[in-house]
Amino acid sequence: MPELPEVEHVKRGLSPKIIGEIITGVHFSEKVTAGKSSGKQTIIKGTDLETFERNIIGSTIKALDRRSKYLIFTLENEWHEHYIISHLGMSGAYFVVDQLEDIGIPNYINHWHVAVHLQSGRQLIYSDIRRFGELRYIERLEEATQIMAIAPEPFDDEALDYYLTQLTASKWQGRTIKEAIMNHSVVSGCGNIYACEALHLARINPNKTVKRIGRAKRIELFQAIVHVLNEGIKYGGSSISSYRNVEGKEGFMQTRFNIYGRKICATCGGPVSQKVIATRNTHYCTHCQK
Ligand SMILES: [Zn+2]
Repeated sequence: MPELPEVEHVKRGLSPKIIGEIITGVHFSEKVTAGKSSGKQTIIKGTDLETFERNIIGSTIKALDRRSKYLIFTLENEWHEHYIISHLGMSGAYFVVDQLEDIGIPNYINHWHVAVHLQSGRQLIYSDIRRFGELRYIERLEEATQIMAIAPEPFDDEALDYYLTQLTASKWQGRTIKEAIMNHSVVSGCGNIYACEALHLARINPNKTVKRIGRAKRIELFQAIVHVLNEGIKYGGSSISSYRNVEGKEGFMQTRFNIYGRKICATCGGPVSQKVIATRNTHYCTHCQK
């Protein structure tokens, strides 16, 4: 599943290729067309396909931002600013190409679902093998309720105070620290892989309940989360779960993991423990993490 660092890379890769472009048309795959006509929300959420196309055609792509794991395309026409909110689900990827075949990776060519035609003649393609991703048209950002509930970006000044305050809520006291930091209302964009790595860096056992972790250790954990997310961005994201950036390239953060996906702890050389915590496979070291 693409996490915050991977989505940040998609944003950085896409922005120079699409900002300033005017949308001239949209095509959808047979899977999307068939899904929508049978009443499902296949990839295009909230509107039917004709409305989606009519709403965005003729608009200029003014900006592309990332909020947690969501991409926000800001569109502008002569009347107003409006938006497409997108997330990549388990296996989504964006490409900007002259023609579909230029993607060069058979899986992403075969599983294209949305082709946004641009005035330059290029196409913004959304491909998604498992089809858990989405594009949602909204007129006002306030309609994006799933984004409004998310904690501040971890790199923002107010994020630490926000996190510390959230952790004092009674609902978290008896729950594991791992479940808490993976919740968007506590920390923005800390998915399973980076939660495992941050807990390892801060030397905290992921099974530990929130109430047993003191303020200093909570702060240390937050700093560890920021550190591993920054490392993830620096090293191009990880390529677990078939992530590809806009150039079709894999990231290589996975070669830098100290605990996630490993048999041997990179810190002490001891065996790595595995357990499902907060519904996700969790890797940790009982020697290093107390
Ligand atoms: Zn260890």
